[in-house]
Amino acid sequence: MERPVVGRFAPSPSGYMHIGNLLSMLLAWLDCRALGGELVFRMEDLDPARSKPVFAEAMAEDLRWLGLDWDRGWPDPDFAQSRRTARYEAAFRRLEERGLVYPCWCSRAERLAAANAPHPGEQLGDAACRCARLSREERAARLLSGRAPAWKLRCPDETISVADGHYGLFSQNPAREGGDCIVRRADGVYAYQLAVSVDDMEMGVTRVVRGRDLLSSAPKQKWLIETLGGAAPDYCHGPLIASGGGKLSKRLGSLSTRELRVEFSPEALVGRLAFFCGLIEKEEPVSPRELLSVFSWDKVAKDDILI
Ligand code: GLU
Repeated sequence: MERPVVGRFAPSPSGYMHIGNLLSMLLAWLDCRALGGELVFRMEDLDPARSKPVFAEAMAEDLRWLGLDWDRGWPDPDFAQSRRTARYEAAFRRLEERGLVYPCWCSRAERLAAANAPHPGEQLGDAACRCARLSREERAARLLSGRAPAWKLRCPDETISVADGHYGLFSQNPAREGGDCIVRRADGVYAYQLAVSVDDMEMGVTRVVRGRDLLSSAPKQKWLIETLGGAAPDYCHGPLIASGGGKLSKRLGSLSTRELRVEFSPEALVGRLAFFCGLIEKEEPVSPRELLSVFSWDKVAKDDILI
């Protein structure tokens, strides 16, 4: 049965958005609106140490300023990950019943790094982690030590393929590439891969549009959703913006929305983003709604956009 189209914005309020975040949000909005779908705005404020309400407020305000609207979501508490712990807990218990999670006593630094969204260069391989292979005695001794473990997902040792709407077929063996990931930290906070999968599933998301740095997470998320009994969304990743050019472009690449808003009108900024990613041939001010008539993934760049 055809499911109604549901897209989402899912920023992490750990700082102000920058031009790369804005491009991802614009593409998510265009994709969803072009399909006549409903847009959900989810606040990914999982990590209490990094998330700040001031950034959450600013993100919502920046999206409105840019002309990107949504249909349901934040500030409704049901759409803030920090308020959805019971749902992650329920999914975790289901995975536990099936033997798909195991305790891990590796160091705190390793756990924290592995629990955040794995942007390139951040993902820790877990080759050094022996926790999945502890003998019964070793595990019992660690449990007795009183130190709370993190919990890791036993990733499937099989090829999982995702038909990405922009980059084509992407296949990965999650157990061998990237390895088991933390789903619950030692301090009880649920981690990115579990939370995002549960949320996309329970919010009925059918279109995940985001930056291509998260393409490598898609097979794991698809598998998790299907393992939990849900229907995986379609994934469509977009190009990243990298500031590699001269002085001016480096500056633009590092500016936050707060600063960009001083220099640009909303239409001028949308026009620049649309020009950067290939949607329009000449840079000129345009509103997101006006862009809808020319939007097509075929026009969107695949390579990183060097500014
Ligand atoms: N919250 C993540 C980020 O801001 C994005 C998660 C996702 O789109 O799956 O990097």
